[in-house]
Amino acid sequence: MNTDAVKVLPGRYCNSLTEYSRFITREVNIGDVPMGGNNPIRIQSMTTTDTMDTIGTVEQSIRMVDAGCEYVRITAPSIKEAQNLAEIKKQLRARGYTVPLVADIHFTPNAAEVAARIVEKVRVNPGNYADKKKFDQIDYTDLEYQGELERIFQKFTPLVKVCKEYGTAMRIGTNHGSLSDRIMSRYGDTPQGMVESAMEFMRMCEQLNFYNLVISMKSSNPQVMVQAYRLLVETMVAEGMNYPLHLGVTEAGDGEDGRIKSAVGIGTLLEDGLGDTVRVSLTEEPEAEAPVAIELVRRYTERKAKSEKQKAKEQELSAFSLQPSAWHSPYEYKKRETYEANVFIGGHLVPRVVVDLSKKNLKDPAVLNEAGYLYSPLLDKYNMAEQSVDFVYLANELPSFTLPGNLKQLYNYNTWLKLADKTNCHPVFTLQEYIGDVDRSSKLNLVHLKPADIDSEDFGSIQLDKSLVLVLETDALHGMAEQRSFFFKMEELGLDVPVIVKRSYIFESESPEVGKSESEADLKSQISDLTSKLQLYASTDLGALLVDGFGDGIWIDAPELPTGVITSTSFGILQATRSRISKTEYISCPSCGRTLFDLMVTTQMIRSRTSHLKGLKIGIMGCIVNGPGEMADADYGYVGSGTDKITLYRGKEAVKKNISSANALDELINIIKGDGNWIDAVQE
Ligand code: SF4
Repeated sequence: MNTDAVKVLPGRYCNSLTEYSRFITREVNIGDVPMGGNNPIRIQSMTTTDTMDTIGTVEQSIRMVDAGCEYVRITAPSIKEAQNLAEIKKQLRARGYTVPLVADIHFTPNAAEVAARIVEKVRVNPGNYADKKKFDQIDYTDLEYQGELERIFQKFTPLVKVCKEYGTAMRIGTNHGSLSDRIMSRYGDTPQGMVESAMEFMRMCEQLNFYNLVISMKSSNPQVMVQAYRLLVETMVAEGMNYPLHLGVTEAGDGEDGRIKSAVGIGTLLEDGLGDTVRVSLTEEPEAEAPVAIELVRRYTERKAKSEKQKAKEQELSAFSLQPSAWHSPYEYKKRETYEANVFIGGHLVPRVVVDLSKKNLKDPAVLNEAGYLYSPLLDKYNMAEQSVDFVYLANELPSFTLPGNLKQLYNYNTWLKLADKTNCHPVFTLQEYIGDVDRSSKLNLVHLKPADIDSEDFGSIQLDKSLVLVLETDALHGMAEQRSFFFKMEELGLDVPVIVKRSYIFESESPEVGKSESEADLKSQISDLTSKLQLYASTDLGALLVDGFGDGIWIDAPELPTGVITSTSFGILQATRSRISKTEYISCPSCGRTLFDLMVTTQMIRSRTSHLKGLKIGIMGCIVNGPGEMADADYGYVGSGTDKITLYRGKEAVKKNISSANALDELINIIKGDGNWIDAVQE
C-alpha cells in the first residue's frame, strides 16, 4: 500500500465543505501529460469512428485535440482494433500530435494486453473485464466470492504486468450500468457496489505494486454518480489511497439536457474539490465535448487564482458555520424536511420555479409565453405548457393585463402594500423589513437574505409561522458551499422553513458587447455562448444543492438572457436532479467505435416522436456494453445489437430481439402503447 500524501479529510470525502479546496491526489504519468497532484484538471474525450478506420480516427482525434482534448480514448473491442492503435498512433505522431492515447476495453483481456503495449493508458471496466454479465442473481457464499476474486486476479495479473513493463497507466472505470453479477448479488446496483467493484481491482493492483491508476464511477443518474465518487474518496482514504479521479456522467444525452445533466454531476464534485480529469459525454460530435468540459473546469482554475483580498472577504462572509451537518449524509439522497407553506411551496411539493419579469414588457400578455403560459390573443386566454413557472417576480412594476389565476406574483414589500387587489400577489421583504410589527400577507411572505444573516440578531427575532419562506442568495465566489452551510445551520437550529435558492449571473464584464452588437448573427452567437455558460454554472450551483436534498424552489436571475432560456434551464436542472419531472428523459450514449447505428440521427428521430411523453425515460445505446444495466434506470431501451439490428427493452428485460432498424421505432411505440404509457401529442 502506498500512503504518500493521503490526508485525513474533515468533510470525510473532501477537504472542506465550506470553501474550495482541491483534494490532492497522487500524480500519475500518462505519456507526457501527467494527471493528478497539482497538475491542471485535464480535458478528454473519446472517438466515435470505427477503430479500423485509421484515417477517420486520426482526423477525428486531431479535431478533438484542436478543440482542447488532452487525452484521446479509442475503443478496442478485439485484438485487431487493439493492434490498429499502433498505426493510428504512428500517423498522429507523424502529423505532430503527441496526445496520449487511451484504449477502451470491455470484456477482452487479450485486446487489453495488446493495447497496453502500444498506448499510454488502458481503461478497463471492472464489471466486465473478467466476467460475462448474465443477470443471474447468484447468492455467493464468502468462500465462493473469494474464489471469484482469485479467478479475476489470475485473469487481471497479466495486464498489470504489461502496464508495469511498458509504463502504461490504467483507468479502473466502473459504470453503474455494467456492474458484475457478483457485485450486484452482494451490493445491488448501489454506489457502494460501484465503489467496491473498483476497490477490488485497485487492491489487486497494489498487491502487484502497481500504482499508475486513475478511477471513475460513472452513471447516467447524476445523483448516483455524485454519491459513488464521494464514497469512493472516503473508502480510498480509509485504505491509504489517493488515486486521481476521472469525472463523467455517462449517457448524458445531447443539447441542453446533456449539458445540464453533465454539469449537475461533474460540477457538484468539482465544487467539492474532487476531480483530476473531466470527460463530458454528449450524443454529439466528440469535438463538441471539450469546450463544455473546459468551461466547467475554468471556474475552478479562476477560483484558485483569486486574489488573497477576495479570499479574506469571503472567509469573513462564510465564517458563520464551518461544520458538516450531523443530519445530512453525502452518500444518500434525503430531502430536507420543511413545512408546506400556506401557498404551494415546501413540504412534499416539488421544488418551485421563480423567474424575474420586472424588466420585461409588462404591457404585453405575450411576455408570459417564455415563462410557460402561452397567450392566445384570439381567445384572450392562456394555455399552460409542460414547463410553466410557479412564481413571477415583478419587483415594483405593475402589469397592465390580468395574469393567469394559477400564476403567483411577487412584489417588493412596499409595492405590495399599496396593491388594491392582493389576490395571488405576495410580498418579498428584506430581513430588516420583516422584523417587528408590520403588515404581512396572511398566506405567503418571502424574506430575502444572505447566508451570513442566519447569525444576525434580526434573524433571531424573525416571526416563524407557515406563511414564511426564505429566499437565499449569495454573492460569494464559492456560493454553493456558502448556501450549503446555511442549510446545515438551519438543520442545527431545528428550523424547517422552506427555502428558495437564488443565484444571479451577470456575464456583462466577460462579454461587453452583448446587446450592443450591430449584427443579428453576432448577437445570436453571443446569446448562445451565454446560454451555454448559464446552463453549466446554474446547473452546478443549484444542482449541487438539489442532489443533496436542499431547496424548495429555485430562482435564476440572468438579466442578459431571454426568459425562455431561464425557464428551460430551471426545469432542466430540476429534471436532471430528479426533483421535478417535466419532460421525457433520454439516456443516450455518446457513441464510439462500437456503435451499431447513427446515434445522433436516431436520437433525434426517437425524440421527434416521443418528446411529449413527460416522465418517461428512454435509453438509446449504440451497443450492449452498458445496455441491459443502464436499462435498469430507463423505462424503455433501444439498443444496437448487430448491423441494422435493434433490441428493444422494457426496463432490464429484452422484449424484442434483433429486429430490423427500419421498423424498430414503430415497434418501440407499439410496446409503449401496449403498456398504456402512450398519449397522443397535442397538435399546436
Ligand atoms: S454504449 Fe455507446 S459509447 Fe458505450 S460502448 Fe456502446 S456504443 Fe460505445
